[in-house]
Amino acid sequence: MSELRELYQEMILDHGKHPRNFRFPENANRGSEGYNPLCGDRLTLKLVVENDRVVDAGFQGSGCAISTASASTMTEAIKGKTLGEVDALFQSFHELVTGKLEPDPETLGKLAVFSGVSDFPMRVKCATLAWHTLRAALAGQNQQVSTE
Ligand code: ZN
Repeated sequence: MSELRELYQEMILDHGKHPRNFRFPENANRGSEGYNPLCGDRLTLKLVVENDRVVDAGFQGSGCAISTASASTMTEAIKGKTLGEVDALFQSFHELVTGKLEPDPETLGKLAVFSGVSDFPMRVKCATLAWHTLRAALAGQNQQVSTE
C-alpha cells in the first residue's frame, strides 16, 4: 500500500504543478467560482455542456497542490461524460475522500489518487472544492461557492 501511496502522491504533485485544462474553453456556457477559506484555494471553472454532456472543461485559479490537482484530474475525468455520469462520479469521489469507499480504479480512474486525503480531514475541502464548484456550475448557479 505504501508504494501505491507514493505513486498517488507523485501524481497529485504532478497535477498540482502542471495542471491539465488550465484554461477557459471557448464557447463555455456554464461556469462557477469556488473558494475554500480554510486553505485559501480559489478557482473558476468553465464548461461547455451540449445535449446533457460535458464537451469541454477548464479552470483557472490558485490554491494548494491538492485543490489544483483535484481540479485538473476532475476536468479530465468529466470530459465526454453525461451529466448523470458526472453526478455518479461526484458521489463516488466524495465517498472516497471521506473514507467511505475503497479506491477502485475501475470506476474512479485517476481520481483514485485522492484516497489518501481521507486521512487528513482538513484536506477534504481542498479535494472537493472543484467538485462543489462543478455542481454549482451544472446547477446554473453563477454565484461563488464556498466550502464553509
Ligand atoms: Zn487547499
